[in-house]
Amino acid sequence: HWSGRPGTYTEQMEGPVDEAKIRLRFPPEPNGYLHIGHAKSICLNFGLAKEFDGRCHMRFDDTNPVKEDQEYVDSILGSVNWLGFNWKDDKECNYYFASDYFDYMYDIAEHLIKTGDAYVDEQSAEEMKENRGSLHAPGKNSPYRDRPVEENLRLFREMKEGKHPEGSMVLRSKVDMGSRNVNLRDPAIYRIRFADHHRTGDKWCIYPMYTFAHPLEDVLENITHSICTLEFEDQRAFYNWATERSIPVTRAPLFALAVEFLNDLINAPEEKKEKFIKAAVKFKWKLGQNREEQEVLTLLNQIKEKLASEPVEYDAVLGSEVIGKIARAPAHFTPLLSDVLSAVVKPNYFLLPHQYEFNRLNLTYVVMSKRKLIALVKEGLVDGWDDPRMPTLVGLRRRGYTAEAMQLFCDRIGVSKQTGGWIDYSVLEGCLREVLDSSADRRIAVQKPLKLIIDNYPEDQMEQIETPNHPQYPERGSRTLGFSKELWIEEDDFSENPPKGYRRLTLATEEKPAAPVRLRHAYVVEATHVDRDENGKVIAVHAKYYPETKSGSEGANNIKTKAAIHWLSQKDSLPAEIRLYDRLFSLEHPDEGGKDFRELLTPDSKTILKSYVETSLKNAKPEDKFQFERNGYYVADQKDFTPGNLVFNLSVPLKDSFNK
Ligand code: ATP
Ligand code: MG
Ligand code: MG
Repeated sequence: HWSGRPGTYTEQMEGPVDEAKIRLRFPPEPNGYLHIGHAKSICLNFGLAKEFDGRCHMRFDDTNPVKEDQEYVDSILGSVNWLGFNWKDDKECNYYFASDYFDYMYDIAEHLIKTGDAYVDEQSAEEMKENRGSLHAPGKNSPYRDRPVEENLRLFREMKEGKHPEGSMVLRSKVDMGSRNVNLRDPAIYRIRFADHHRTGDKWCIYPMYTFAHPLEDVLENITHSICTLEFEDQRAFYNWATERSIPVTRAPLFALAVEFLNDLINAPEEKKEKFIKAAVKFKWKLGQNREEQEVLTLLNQIKEKLASEPVEYDAVLGSEVIGKIARAPAHFTPLLSDVLSAVVKPNYFLLPHQYEFNRLNLTYVVMSKRKLIALVKEGLVDGWDDPRMPTLVGLRRRGYTAEAMQLFCDRIGVSKQTGGWIDYSVLEGCLREVLDSSADRRIAVQKPLKLIIDNYPEDQMEQIETPNHPQYPERGSRTLGFSKELWIEEDDFSENPPKGYRRLTLATEEKPAAPVRLRHAYVVEATHVDRDENGKVIAVHAKYYPETKSGSEGANNIKTKAAIHWLSQKDSLPAEIRLYDRLFSLEHPDEGGKDFRELLTPDSKTILKSYVETSLKNAKPEDKFQFERNGYYVADQKDFTPGNLVFNLSVPLKDSFNK
């Protein structure tokens, strides 16, 4: 039935179906960039496939022509890859486009018309909505519901040929307008859209609705576990309706064989039946000897009854019922039935996908709705999809998140059926800290530089001070920092009006002498006086040092200090741009509260600093990650970092200071 089409069903499915134990899919719509919520779904689907030695299809659910684009396809592939998952394995590429199935979907729609399971409805959108009823009131049948099959077919074909304007009619499933489940009240399955599709161009002017397309995609790819978020729970009934009814088309050749086989078995003379049962015993099932096997026989008998009351040849309605029954049989039947059927056909062809639901990720301070993310980018409220403040995977990557941290996060938050839960943003940050604490080498950066001049240090002297790359891992080596008379220290490490408990550099007052402070890995110093600009702002701090207090020397502890601060020599440091990022939204639940999300943006969530960093950092590569001691974890910017233009992004501060 399918042969002669490029990339046919059989061609695509032949190889893996026998071997695969479970098959899952990750099916994003290529209408935006992936965000952290998608990461949860990716880790779940690809992760399960890995764990159970199955496979996970990377599938683009591109059945809506209007919003989809190749740019999104490329970025989605990049992000899945970055997270550490691959849709290629040693045998084949598990990489699919739903739009490749438009021909099949169309055939299935025609099939549904022929079996009386679909009709063309010409009610207006408002009428359809009105007649759909509500949770408390049943729906009303459309006046077009009982059109003759031929008329439905003719109209549907005309829709396909572009003879009717958008919105003038839709193809609807015929399920049950009285169902308590509103999703079963004849949902539309095809609509007219005169739009170019990013892959099929103008070949089609009718497109399947998502709720119809999705189950068919799963059947066509032999998915076993179709995992989606909980909002789709009420769709499961229609999902099953569509998958079962598609079988006579999607499994047509196999179905014919199975009917033949069952028919043979049921109509066989007694001695042949006995032979079969003997063969079956050899297969290690003793049919009829315990309850389970009785149930199998009962099922076979039910099939027999069906076959007796319907024509035995290929029959669509019968087909869906028989195979649907087998597919929906309790789990312990499945291997037995598969064995029965595998006498003639490949068993997995008869398994239908099951839908399972899990809770979506909600993260505090973060919006994930595609509509809002697109608005942030298009309205210039952020610097593009990969702005480090964005919850997109490209944004998180640019912020300095690693695949390992993302996977740790997904493991930690887990999967459940609980709705409405929120994960605190600090959980995500904690995962990154945990990963970077051991993996990132330590470096020195002075973010907000202030000059420190050590007046009693010799003018032209430069000492080389050895500093370990990671205090816990001496095997990672060390590098040297030059120490000289003129240094950079952090602006915050000096205070003229120290608040209570301040332990860093201060000037002496009448009540209190200046506190001695250690310059890390070097000497103890005390501030003496300051230089000011014409506005009175401190532009340099002068200090004296105690030569006998060098770290590691005998006199190191001669003077007790209460703080150690970091520094860089002016002669041995390089200017760098450091970009500090705050949370994009200042509200814990930015989607709630009725305000426009634009009003909830944190003011000045991006700060650019002119900083100094140690010279070794000119050898860094884009995306290298470091702990800048005492400040936090930083990443060399993926796009803007070059040896001549050092740019670092703050990934996460050392401590969770947000709620202080
Ligand atoms: P839209 O915003 O257009 O409704 P979507 O959020 O459903 O789209 P898709 O591209 O359709 O995004 O999503 C692909 C997969 O990612 C789906 O299977 C969906 O269940 C999953 N997913 C999306 N958002 C989340 C989330 N916040 N948590 C967990 N999984 C998610
Ligand atoms: Mg979606
Ligand atoms: Mg969404």
